[in-house]
Amino acid sequence: MVVERSHRECVLCGACFTGRSFLCRSCSARYRRERPSRQLRRRFYEGVDRLYPGWANTYGSYNPPLGLLRVLDRLPRTVRILELGCGGGALLRELAARGFFELVGLDLARTALVEARQRQTPASLVLAEAERLPFHDRSFDIVLAADLIEHVDDVDEHLAEVARVLREGGQYLVKTPNRPLAEAYYRLVGLDDYPFWHPSLLSPGELRAVFARHGFTACFVAQPGLTPAQLRKIPSRLLRRLAQTLPVSCLPVWLRPHLEVVAVLRVGR
Ligand SMILES: [Zn+2]
Repeated sequence: MVVERSHRECVLCGACFTGRSFLCRSCSARYRRERPSRQLRRRFYEGVDRLYPGWANTYGSYNPPLGLLRVLDRLPRTVRILELGCGGGALLRELAARGFFELVGLDLARTALVEARQRQTPASLVLAEAERLPFHDRSFDIVLAADLIEHVDDVDEHLAEVARVLREGGQYLVKTPNRPLAEAYYRLVGLDDYPFWHPSLLSPGELRAVFARHGFTACFVAQPGLTPAQLRKIPSRLLRRLAQTLPVSCLPVWLRPHLEVVAVLRVGR
């Protein structure tokens, strides 16, 4: 997320500090001890959109799920797709450009849906939480979440909801950071507020296990290259140029910066 050091205000309390995090030290410490309410999380994401529009996925597409887009390309264009955490709608517009037309986008932040509407995203847009989906059982063939599940504060509640709204044999396509690598990076660059905005980071093994508990069989998909957001984290221009040629698709799962997963909902589970 935000990596350059600057003088800034805490997204939650407005206190001024110098650092790389979104929250001041006292808010970071407080929300390591106590679980923030969902209203506070919404306020946080709307605050990030307001204070850091150049970094928020609401206003740009810095981190596309390149491996999952290849999976989607092989599907019939009639599938009904729900995108969770759709932000400003960039991925939904990409899907529409590829010929999909049964599209629903959901986000927690009002700022995200305002942007998605302004950009005339060709999808139904719904303001709701990813742990309580306002849809009937078995409404969708595909649920898609790029950089969403790490933000959810109860992954079990979330996956139970996804399993409910998917038809049997439907697929949940997920892109999420790889926990051990992400945590090492956040600690290295001093993002001590990461437990607030990424409370549910998972390793490949944890991801496989939590999906299995909810009736999904998970299969990891290789990402063909680094995304703009991943390249932006590399500190020098030379290293960035080298990284662009890195064969990330050959990396073993545990070494990938992000995990892309196709989780199929087992029939008769
Ligand atoms: Zn604060």
